[in-house]
Amino acid sequence: MHRSHRAAGALVGSAVGDALGAPFEFGPPGRFSARFPTPARGTHTEMCGGGSSGEEPGEFTDDTQMALLVASSLVERGGLDEADLFDRFRTWAAADPPGIGDQIRAVLGSGLPWDTAAAEHFARSGHAAGNGSLMRTTPAAIRFARDGRGASMDAARRISALTHGDPSAGEGCAVFHELVRVALDGGDPLAAIPAALESVAGEHRDRWATVLAPDWTPEDATESNGAVWPTLGEAVWALRHGRDFAEVLRLVIDLGGDTDTVACVAGGLAGAVYGMGGIPMRWASVVHGRVPGSGERVWRLADLQQLGAALDGGARQSYDPGVIPRIGPREVLPGIWAGNLDGARYSEQDFAVISLCRLGEPFPHPLHRMAYIADDEHNADLDAMLADVLDDMAALRAEGHRLLVHCHGGASRTGLVLRAWLVRERGMTVDEATAHVAERWEHLGLWNDSFTAALQRLQAGPRPG
Ligand SMILES: [Mg+2]
Repeated sequence: MHRSHRAAGALVGSAVGDALGAPFEFGPPGRFSARFPTPARGTHTEMCGGGSSGEEPGEFTDDTQMALLVASSLVERGGLDEADLFDRFRTWAAADPPGIGDQIRAVLGSGLPWDTAAAEHFARSGHAAGNGSLMRTTPAAIRFARDGRGASMDAARRISALTHGDPSAGEGCAVFHELVRVALDGGDPLAAIPAALESVAGEHRDRWATVLAPDWTPEDATESNGAVWPTLGEAVWALRHGRDFAEVLRLVIDLGGDTDTVACVAGGLAGAVYGMGGIPMRWASVVHGRVPGSGERVWRLADLQQLGAALDGGARQSYDPGVIPRIGPREVLPGIWAGNLDGARYSEQDFAVISLCRLGEPFPHPLHRMAYIADDEHNADLDAMLADVLDDMAALRAEGHRLLVHCHGGASRTGLVLRAWLVRERGMTVDEATAHVAERWEHLGLWNDSFTAALQRLQAGPRPG
C-alpha cells in the first residue's frame, strides 16, 4: 500500500470516527450495535447525526475542528509554531463551538499567553488529564512521523501542553504519535507499543503500560473514558480485537461514554493501518464539517485527503481534473448506468452516484458514494474494497435507486465494477461478464491486470475466513 493511502486514511479515519461516534456520546454501552446490528448500506447509514449538538449525518465535532486547526497551522507555518497554533485555538474557542470541553474552554479563555495558560490552569485545578489533546493530534502525528520517534513524540507533548498542563496527557499523545508513525511506515503499531513505552517519561510509564497491555480490557479502566488513559487504551484494545476498520469503530463506539472522541482516536490509528481504502465508502463519502471562527468553509472528504497528503510532505495542490468531453450516462445493465467524470457530474440529480475517481469540485447529487480504488497495482485490499462497493450498490438498488457508476474515463474502474456486479449478482464467469459489458459499453478498458485477478477471485467465491 502506498504511504499516501495511510496518511489520508489516518486523517479521514479520525474525522469519520468523530462523526460516527457523536450521536452515541454519553450513551450506554452497546447502543451502536443495538441500532445497527448489521451494516446499514442504503440511503440511511450508521452516519445518523443528531448528537448532543444536533450534528448532521456525517458532521464531525470539536475533535476534528481542533485537529484541522492543528493541521492548518502546521502546513501554513511549515512546522510547529506554538504561538500561532494557540492563537488559532483561541479564535476558535471565542466562536463558542458546540461541544468544547470545559478544560479547553477555561485554558483558552483565560487571557494568559500560550506558554503559561495551560500550566496555570493545571496548577490551580490539579485536573488536566482529559482526552482533549489526544483527540486532535492525528495531523501532527502524520506531520512529524518522518522526523523519527523522538522528534514526533516531542512535538506531541508540546502541542498537548498548549491546553493540557498535566504531562500525562502529553505522554498519551506521544505514544499515539509513535504508533501512527510505525503504522504509516507499514509496520504493526501493536508490536511497537513496548518501544513506545520506553520513550515515555519514567514517572508516567507504568500507568501507560497498564492500559496498553495486551490483556487490558475496557472493564479494567479506573476512570471514565473522558480521561486520556482509557481513551487511548480503548482505541488500542479495539485495534487489537477488530478485524477491519469498521469493526474497530464498532467496538469502541459500543463501549459508550465519550464515543466521538474515543472513535476519533481509534479511527486515526485504524485509518493509518488499513488505509483510505479500508474505510467503508458510505462513511467516508459523507464526512464533513465547518471550523467555527474560521469562516464558512465546509471541509469534505477530498479536502481531508489533500490535507493528509500535505501533512505527509506532499505538495498541497487542489485537484483540477480539467474539462473532459462527457461520456454517458447510459444504462448499461438494468438500473445501472455508466459514464465518465463529467458525464456523471452533469447527470440528473436523482441518480445514486458511485464515484471511483477523484472529482475536483463536489457533485450536487444528494446520494453520492466515493470509493478509493486506484487504477494501478497498489490498492491495499482490492477484494474488500470491491465488496464494499458492490454491497452498497445492492442496497441502493434494492431501495429502487438508479445507479450511476463512473470513473475519470469511464473505462477501467467503471468496467471493473460493472463486470464484478455481473459476476457476483448474476453468477457470470469473468469472460462472460467482460463480453456482456463490452457489447453494451464500448468504453470498457481492460488494461489493469490486478482488476482481472480480483474478478477471478470473486468468481472463485468468498475467501476462507
Ligand atoms: Mg466531540
